[in-house]
Amino acid sequence: MENELKALMDKALKEINNCQTSSDIEAVRIRLLGKKGELTASLRSMKDLPEDQRPLFGKHVNEVRDALTQAIDKKAGELNRIEKERRLKAEAVDITMPGKKQMIGGLHPLTRIYYELRDIFVSMGFSVMDGPEIEYDKYSFEMLNIPKEHPARDMQDTFYITEDIVLRPHTSPVQIRTMLSQKPPIRMICPGRVYRSDDVDATHSPVFNQVEGLVVGHGITLANLKWTLDAVMKEFYGENTKTKFRPGHFPFTEPSAEVDATCAKCHGKGCGVCKGTGMIEVLGCGMVHPNVLLNCGIDPDEYTGFAFGMGLDRLATIKYGITDIRLLFENDIRFLSQFK
Ligand SMILES: [Zn+2]
Repeated sequence: MENELKALMDKALKEINNCQTSSDIEAVRIRLLGKKGELTASLRSMKDLPEDQRPLFGKHVNEVRDALTQAIDKKAGELNRIEKERRLKAEAVDITMPGKKQMIGGLHPLTRIYYELRDIFVSMGFSVMDGPEIEYDKYSFEMLNIPKEHPARDMQDTFYITEDIVLRPHTSPVQIRTMLSQKPPIRMICPGRVYRSDDVDATHSPVFNQVEGLVVGHGITLANLKWTLDAVMKEFYGENTKTKFRPGHFPFTEPSAEVDATCAKCHGKGCGVCKGTGMIEVLGCGMVHPNVLLNCGIDPDEYTGFAFGMGLDRLATIKYGITDIRLLFENDIRFLSQFK
């Protein structure tokens, strides 16, 4: 019995020594010292011994248990320390490592241009109105004083869905809708997508973006129109910007004007963009035609108004020096990421 105990002890010490992980050592602890463990079994076999040998054997078993418990605790402590060190090392953050570069998105150049313009108009007391892109022919042409035979109504210029319904060729129907639903004074802009059946090239696209505006009230004059648009252009392109009003013709305004502003690229000196003139056409405008007011139930003897419209895409190409309008629609990330 004593020899068996000694063999058990030697074998157990070797096993403890061979443990590699804290779960190994726990398994050994249970196998040796647990209720069904080998040492407990030895203690139980004591009853087979003659009575006088039992106390000494019991003493030895307890000594072995103490020795093994000590050895196991020591080994477990060691393994825990090693594992903790290993874990800390694995979880350590190297603060000297360069960070990962985050890709942060930016606003599309058209959105930036629109936000700038919107903020300028809102600061002047304009409200922002919205309307459908699929629109009645009536609101798109007829009520805007564009008669049936007008070239703008040509099937080749406008996308007709039915005879009465079109993809709006300008945002002007929003002006009509506003005048139909609101009594003067009116001071609004209407931004949005518009459609013309143009072939795609560097300066044309079948879908583009406009911002139009309308002011209707008592005693609104051409002077108000000129001051407002001049102030907007100075705010938008810079305070040294000059504007030039040339006579123009639109069916929905009378008188009408086309407006040039100082070329943003050469600041008036003359360059390829402005064809050497130093000025560049930026918008169309005029006093609202009395027929248009009448069509919307507004008395032209009591009220007058002015309206204007500009192409956002055109303003963006001028402001950013973009030479091909298609770049604005192709969503090439290399192009767009320049506008952060
Ligand atoms: Zn120029």
